[in-house]
Amino acid sequence: MTKSIILKSNAEIEQIGLANQIVARTLSMLKSRIESGVSTWQLDLWAEDFCRESGAIPAFKGYRGFPGSLCVSLNEQVVHGIPSKKVILHEGDILSIDFGVKYEGFYGDSAITVPIGLLDSKISQLLKVTEESLYKGIAQAKIGNRIDDISTAVQNHVERHGFSVVRQFVGHGIGANLHEPPEIPNYHRKGPSSRILEGMVLAIEPMINIGTHEVKILKDGWTVITKDKKMSAHFEHTIAVTQDEPLVLSSRD
Ligand code: MG
Ligand code: MG
Repeated sequence: MTKSIILKSNAEIEQIGLANQIVARTLSMLKSRIESGVSTWQLDLWAEDFCRESGAIPAFKGYRGFPGSLCVSLNEQVVHGIPSKKVILHEGDILSIDFGVKYEGFYGDSAITVPIGLLDSKISQLLKVTEESLYKGIAQAKIGNRIDDISTAVQNHVERHGFSVVRQFVGHGIGANLHEPPEIPNYHRKGPSSRILEGMVLAIEPMINIGTHEVKILKDGWTVITKDKKMSAHFEHTIAVTQDEPLVLSSRD
């Protein structure tokens, strides 16, 4: 990881946008195919094929030894779940899908949490509030604000609805590297926080739990789950800070 924040030119933001549009199209494709009975291994195959046909490389595969193209985190799993033939989706489940690609030297990174069939109302509210908190955070990604304004906006929205913010994992800068400074916590941290400048490209990614904010890592060395085994959701967009509104590079519209 580089040490200082790398500001991007408009041309670079366009390139990062192309990578993110491959991510966005992959997530839309997966969302349309997700149903009860499908395995997370199958989703991983579909994603990798789609990505390579688009001329991109799955960014997570082999990253620090991660075995999949997708991170697929089911129910109480928060992030970094490993695709598996043994993990079959069922009605009432939620699946967080995090996907990243490298395309012509630049990275894209985005995540969604998808319901399988009908959900318990508390769980659908978790999904709604988590996605809303992402947009509350994005709205603060303005020149002159600080990174902590993003963090605080996410936290306030989530806690107002009685949910909790995961502390151990944070958002990040992105560009020619998958993870660059600054770190973007989803909760207020005491101490200095970087000023937001034009040309910053940021992956903002709230990970929100129904119960405790505390998490632990399973014996596979990757899968992060909530300590109380209650459900968790994750939404992520890569955005660029501009003179105008933040530009959502991984938008699926
Ligand atoms: Mg991600
Ligand atoms: Mg990310």
